Amino acid sequence: MMFTGIHDDVRPQLEELTIDRDRPLVITDADEVLFNFMIGLEDFLKSLDLYFDWSSFALSGNIRRIADKEPIDQMEIGVLLSNFFDQRCAVLPAVDGAAEGLASLRDHAQIVVLSNVPPKHAGKRLLGLKDKGMDFPLIANIGSKGQVVRFLTEGLNAPAYFIDDIPHNHSSVNEHAAHVHRLHYIADPRLSDLLGPAEHSHSRLYNWPEISAHIIRHIETGEY
Ligand SMILES: [Mg+2]
Repeated sequence: MMFTGIHDDVRPQLEELTIDRDRPLVITDADEVLFNFMIGLEDFLKSLDLYFDWSSFALSGNIRRIADKEPIDQMEIGVLLSNFFDQRCAVLPAVDGAAEGLASLRDHAQIVVLSNVPPKHAGKRLLGLKDKGMDFPLIANIGSKGQVVRFLTEGLNAPAYFIDDIPHNHSSVNEHAAHVHRLHYIADPRLSDLLGPAEHSHSRLYNWPEISAHIIRHIETGEY
């Protein structure tokens, strides 16, 4: 089968990963699922005399200069985010209950972290995961996630679960790997309040105890 939508820098990471085809698989995002991305970003923005204005679920248009309240350009956001991951991603705070939730899932499923951290900063993301008690394999992805999730779940004889905060990632997984159970979770309550359930998710959940209980119940009974 062809996976033409997978970036050349991502494919080798996938080929290195060993997936047990007979064990349930949990594929979890990192930012705003395992790590408090927004808390870290706000702190980083402050150090640059910038702020986030919380008017929508997007970085674009919401990162503004403290001096004149004007948003920074789209071009600048890319550079800013790359610097943010370089400097902060190893030390981002963990979401409450995330490490405990993954630890409880570990008895029932294999776990892979699928994060759109730039691959050149993957080592720092791994350090952060280990430091917070979430020592799981990481795929540093580029672009949409659906084809990667299809690759990871190809030939799997057990249920698979996808956890992410961003609605278009759920749409992409629905398009390319519709058999995967999709759980929508946004850790930061301020961000969560800006968005309803993702259109292509099965369930919107609000904390890690809910997420792990939901997945374990589904693995054990086949029901939500
Ligand atoms: Mg995220």
